[in-house]
Amino acid sequence: MASRPLRPCAQPGCPNLVEKGYCKLHQKQSRKKTKEEQRKEDQRRGTSSERGYDHRWRRYSQWFLRQPENQFCKLQLDGCTNIAQCVDHIVPPSSPDDPLFWDPKNHQAGCLHCNSVKGKSSMVGKSKPFEANMRK
Ligand SMILES: [Zn+2]
Ligand SMILES: [Zn+2]
Repeated sequence: MASRPLRPCAQPGCPNLVEKGYCKLHQKQSRKKTKEEQRKEDQRRGTSSERGYDHRWRRYSQWFLRQPENQFCKLQLDGCTNIAQCVDHIVPPSSPDDPLFWDPKNHQAGCLHCNSVKGKSSMVGKSKPFEANMRK
């Protein structure tokens, strides 16, 4: 009797047959999902600048450490491994918005040891050792 051709719901894996699109169950869900997705997208947009900094810094660090003059640690603190593994800020910037953060004159090659020793001593203040990211 019901001769109208029915298709499976557009939701993958849903066995409900519908004339088109989603079954009632998934129509509701898809509407909810859209709202959630929008909220998530807004959140993503909010943190994209932070992520951009992180990404840019990582790329910059990789380039920096490839330069011939940046093969060895310039800090030479007690226990130095001498192998340049991260970019050290000569004057620790207060945040990624601080012009000191991207100032090439404020960058030097550092080993992880010296960087963490220096980071610990400068953490007493408000500055955070951004180079910690490089340890991952
Ligand atoms: Zn469905
Ligand atoms: Zn060192």
